[in-house]
Amino acid sequence: MAALALPFENSFASLPPAFYTRLMPTPLPSPYLVAASPSAAKLIGLDPAALDDPDTLAAIIGNRVPERSKPLSAVYSGHQFGVWAGQLGDGRAILLGDLPTAQGPVELQLKGAGLTPYSRMGDGRAVLRSSIREFLCSEAMHALGIPTTRALSVAGSDQGVVRETIETSAVVVRMAPTFVRFGSFEHWFYKRQEGELKTLADYVIERFYPALREEDNPYAALLEEVTRRTAHLVAHWQAVGFMHGVLNTDNMSILGQTLDYGPFGFMEAFDSGHICNHTDQGGRYSYANQPQIGHWNCYALGQALLPLIGEVELAQESLDIYQSAFATKIDDLLHAKLGLREQRDGDRELLDSMFGLLQTNHADFTLFFRRLGGLRSDGPSGDEPLRDLFIDRPAFDAWANTYRERLRAEASVDIERKLAMDQTNPKYILRNYLAQVAIEKAQNKDFSEVARLLQVLERPFDEQPENERYAALPPDWASELEVSCSS
Ligand code: AMP
Ligand code: MG
Repeated sequence: MAALALPFENSFASLPPAFYTRLMPTPLPSPYLVAASPSAAKLIGLDPAALDDPDTLAAIIGNRVPERSKPLSAVYSGHQFGVWAGQLGDGRAILLGDLPTAQGPVELQLKGAGLTPYSRMGDGRAVLRSSIREFLCSEAMHALGIPTTRALSVAGSDQGVVRETIETSAVVVRMAPTFVRFGSFEHWFYKRQEGELKTLADYVIERFYPALREEDNPYAALLEEVTRRTAHLVAHWQAVGFMHGVLNTDNMSILGQTLDYGPFGFMEAFDSGHICNHTDQGGRYSYANQPQIGHWNCYALGQALLPLIGEVELAQESLDIYQSAFATKIDDLLHAKLGLREQRDGDRELLDSMFGLLQTNHADFTLFFRRLGGLRSDGPSGDEPLRDLFIDRPAFDAWANTYRERLRAEASVDIERKLAMDQTNPKYILRNYLAQVAIEKAQNKDFSEVARLLQVLERPFDEQPENERYAALPPDWASELEVSCSS
């Protein structure tokens, strides 16, 4: 097969050298394809089957750097767990460049491609386990309609890397219009290099927010738009029960996309205090805390942009929209989840009592909303599948009757409501144990389950009778699973 000629540009490389280090990826020894996303491949005009070809795979994972790509690792800083951490940077990520797509240029970034000047104590590698998790969740979130970076492929190697045990290494190819983070701005603010700060802000505005150039204060407008997108993003996470796990400012995308999948999790037995990251002992990034952490992170960005914005009041105004943007979005999303077309007095109480009921019964979050679509508004005759999720049945019955009354108040039509609810309440999510099963098989060189799971998660809202088991409650052993920052 002819060498892959991808029409790379590298717009980030047009920034001054202080923003990055040009370097070559360290080849992944004897790589093999673990999984590829057909829809991500199509986005960049790549035939998904092409990755089965070793030369193409070598080109796409940086073992043989494509012509015109100008590989680089970017510098950034950040707040980790609320504490200023100083310089971080792409410790194991290498940007290959950007490719034209119907949706505008998309960057290809390798994660796990070897040491960089920003690797600090790390080895520059990623393990197969976390690479499969990032790959599957990126594509699952995309299919759920939640802003996210994409993942094109995972390639594995038998090369060992040391974590808590010895694991094998892998490279994920990620895709996004840009991987610029809040921490990319914090970096220049804390170094008091306003020139670079302005260069970066102008680059981001020019390329990703061109409409903001016309604003009186484009930097305040940028802060406001990023704050709004972040609030909307976190609302999406809350509505689907996604927990990021490491909401440090270096993991916050300037585009408001979900970025850096590590110890993430989806809510199963509902507990608003749930902490998905074993390393996060204080629960800073628990489910309940995510909305306020999103705002906190916007403040960190606001502080970094302050020298450009000029007036504290303007920055403050941009940040103040977070609460209302979040409240409006989550309210819309929750109304849709309940199949309610109208906003009515008393809805707040209905939602609060629902969350109270989920909390005391630890009902499965995903199954609850999915089965709620099947509830009949005329009486409890169809309640059983949903009711089964609750230990306190009388409490459930009471809430269900209130919900039924609310449905009747807007003359809801059951069949229509179920159709709408099935398009917003997924049946299939990436439960930790599902990922774990796929990972363990992949560690034994059987990659079929990763592919199968991807197929299931690409259609999260569809009934897939042949895949019913992927929608089931987690098995008992799943409660023993722990995910941590080690990846
Ligand atoms: P993360 O928690 O994955 O967002 O990583 C935080 C910082 O540590 C980033 O600068 C990463 O690039 C870096 N990092 C994480 N793991 C590694 C590794 N294995 N080798 C080098 N750098 C790493
Ligand atoms: Mg990160």
